[in-house]
Amino acid sequence: MTVLKYGIRRPLARYVRENPPYEVRSSHIQGQGVFAIRPIRKGTRVIEYVGDIIDSDEEDRRYDDAYMDRHHTFLFRLDEDHTIDAAVGGNDAMFINHSCEPNCEALDDDGRIFIFAKRSIRPGEELTYDYQFDVDPPITRSDVLRYPCFCGTDTCRGTILNVSQRKLASLKLWPRERIFKAVAAKKKRRR
Ligand SMILES: [Zn+2]
Repeated sequence: MTVLKYGIRRPLARYVRENPPYEVRSSHIQGQGVFAIRPIRKGTRVIEYVGDIIDSDEEDRRYDDAYMDRHHTFLFRLDEDHTIDAAVGGNDAMFINHSCEPNCEALDDDGRIFIFAKRSIRPGEELTYDYQFDVDPPITRSDVLRYPCFCGTDTCRGTILNVSQRKLASLKLWPRERIFKAVAAKKKRRR
């Protein structure tokens, strides 16, 4: 009966919005993460990725590659010219971390981006989707080292970039341990 009440008389999206099945807390992947606090069924539209929609000129104005690396992960690329900047007017979706083996996926619904559950998710699990981050080609070694991945899954490709193993191998960054080693060395040099 409860199911019918929410499923038919009120839109599910509104119920999810008013009673989020997740909370934001610190994550072992990176910074803050979003974690399920109730079971989330496969196919659930969990949250909309919102923020300021900006063009590439504005993106360049706001973010200098050299020193705003972390903030790039609050950007969601819509198409070649448009990006959602969740650092301005964003919601909890901006805290969802990347994973190479994610339990959610970001889907475009008529120009709006929603995070859907790719499979059933248990309470306590961190919500993730694959960022498939794109940078201006050709992808270089320093691009990969700027965006490493620490999702810890068996199929981790070592970076949040949308890049093949073959390409990583050509940059001498595969197997993924080579990425982690190079990132650690880079950090050490900075200290
Ligand atoms: Zn990974």
